[in-house]
Amino acid sequence: MDTSSLIALAIPVFFLLILCEYLFGLFTGNNTYRLNDTFASVSLGMISRFPPMLNLGFQGAIFAYAASHLNLTLMPTESWVTWTIAFVLYDLTYYWMHRLHHKIKVLWATHVVHHQGEEFNLSTALRQTSSGFLWKWIFFIPMFVLGVPAEVFVTVGALNLLYQFWVHTEHVPKLGIFETVFVTPSNHRVHHAQNKEYIDANYGGVFILWDRIFGTFIEEKADLSPVYGTVKPLHSWNPVWANIEIFHQMIRDTIYAKSAKDKVRVWFSDTSWRPADAEKRFPKKINNLDDFKKYNPVISKNVKVYGFVQFFILNVIALVMFFTLDRQGYGETVLLGTILVVSLTSVSMVFENVQGSSLIELVRAGLLLVIFFTGLIDSSLLVSQILVVSALMNIILISILFPVRKIFLLAK
Ligand SMILES: [Zn+2]
Ligand SMILES: [Zn+2]
Repeated sequence: MDTSSLIALAIPVFFLLILCEYLFGLFTGNNTYRLNDTFASVSLGMISRFPPMLNLGFQGAIFAYAASHLNLTLMPTESWVTWTIAFVLYDLTYYWMHRLHHKIKVLWATHVVHHQGEEFNLSTALRQTSSGFLWKWIFFIPMFVLGVPAEVFVTVGALNLLYQFWVHTEHVPKLGIFETVFVTPSNHRVHHAQNKEYIDANYGGVFILWDRIFGTFIEEKADLSPVYGTVKPLHSWNPVWANIEIFHQMIRDTIYAKSAKDKVRVWFSDTSWRPADAEKRFPKKINNLDDFKKYNPVISKNVKVYGFVQFFILNVIALVMFFTLDRQGYGETVLLGTILVVSLTSVSMVFENVQGSSLIELVRAGLLLVIFFTGLIDSSLLVSQILVVSALMNIILISILFPVRKIFLLAK
């Protein structure tokens, strides 16, 4: 079984657990969910599946080359020993890969997405980057050189990722002896915190032992609640912007930094460093945790209703698209993926209360109808039928929920 099928099987379980955590929070008076934040996290999770769906990047080819040409065949032949060693080795590699992704700017640019969320709940686990395929694989080449079989590698990789889901919750307290060896909700809360007392710690995937061995372990303190999110906040629900935020900053800093040395350093420096001249020209505010307010644009009840319906329907569309992948041609997958990314971006503007967002939504519904009726996507696909129904429904919803003067930006 490959990574994609293991993860595909896990998706319904993830959604069920998210619902359980939400209900548990409501009943215990400690709800950790906000619709806008959950929308952003789940959107990022959906988009992050597209690069593997479209086979972007070279990781497969490089791994195959390492396995056939550079293989030192050092792995033992007994299968359970191979699996155990591979599992531990994968997590050790993950630790260093993850730690360097927090230290070097060009790596941070791809990992930042997982940390922009200012809430901490199971949906935060789905906040995954879409650009991880760029350089993450480099760290795992040694496993193939040592002789870990490809099927063992992909399975332990998927198990490692699946393990990390449950640790994204505020509802589970410290777990005694378990805290010593494993990554837990408590020590992973510290990893997501931006408090100066907690920052740059607990990089483990499954085993927290690596942090203890390599000196990056910090324990959660009872008198210091973690404040989640990045030190320099994103302040947006837009999933595309979330993915390119740091890349955009690095490109701009490269252009505006005067010294040639700084232009290179922008990409490989510590994550907090920026060229003085570029920073002066484009300052980025750092959060003041004494007066920290979560990003939360106010929207009316009607807008919330509209946003919730979109959140629901786009999830259905993404799931149907994901599970009917074998019925789509490559071009259709590209088009459907693009439709989904554009739709999520458009809905994020509704959640941000951007002026004109309901008009943009109306245009989106119109474009979907054009794409459907001109036969650009195969109308026999279930996903395209759901898309066209959602477009018709949205036109009705917009006309009911939004005043005409607001849609067309008319003065009062
Ligand atoms: Zn991290
Ligand atoms: Zn995490």
